[in-house]
Amino acid sequence: MELEQVPVIGAVGPMADGRDASFWAGMADGRLLIQHCGGCGSWIWPAQWACPECHRFALAWEEVPARGKIFSWTRTWQNFTPEFAELVPYITVVVELDGADQRRLLGLLLGDDTVDPVLGEPVAGVFQPPSELTGGAGVLRWRRINDHQRN
Ligand SMILES: [Zn+2]
Repeated sequence: MELEQVPVIGAVGPMADGRDASFWAGMADGRLLIQHCGGCGSWIWPAQWACPECHRFALAWEEVPARGKIFSWTRTWQNFTPEFAELVPYITVVVELDGADQRRLLGLLLGDDTVDPVLGEPVAGVFQPPSELTGGAGVLRWRRINDHQRN
């Protein structure tokens, strides 16, 4: 799967209550923003209104490097959504970020869909800019660092 062919599942996007609006604004700018508590220093994902650790509302959005390691993965063979009808099989990964206290993000893995990912394998984020294909949202995809294909 390559970047120019990846759509967004219709259900993906900003939460209706706006709590992750800054995350999506960052995505549109090609930046990964994660919530950070000014009270206790916890990194928070998914977005919350208050810190789940200390219950303060002193949350800020901070940019973290879009790099991490594969924590888990799956290859999807069955088409569950019309957006991906032409793209199965594809690989979804859970990436443990190098920063942000190793918070984990879910995303699609670009590159050769026939090669099994290795747990702990380093990956780098690839920002897919907002387009008609992505429903107007910027989206973060992942690519193996040792994958020398174009992004
Ligand atoms: Zn806190």
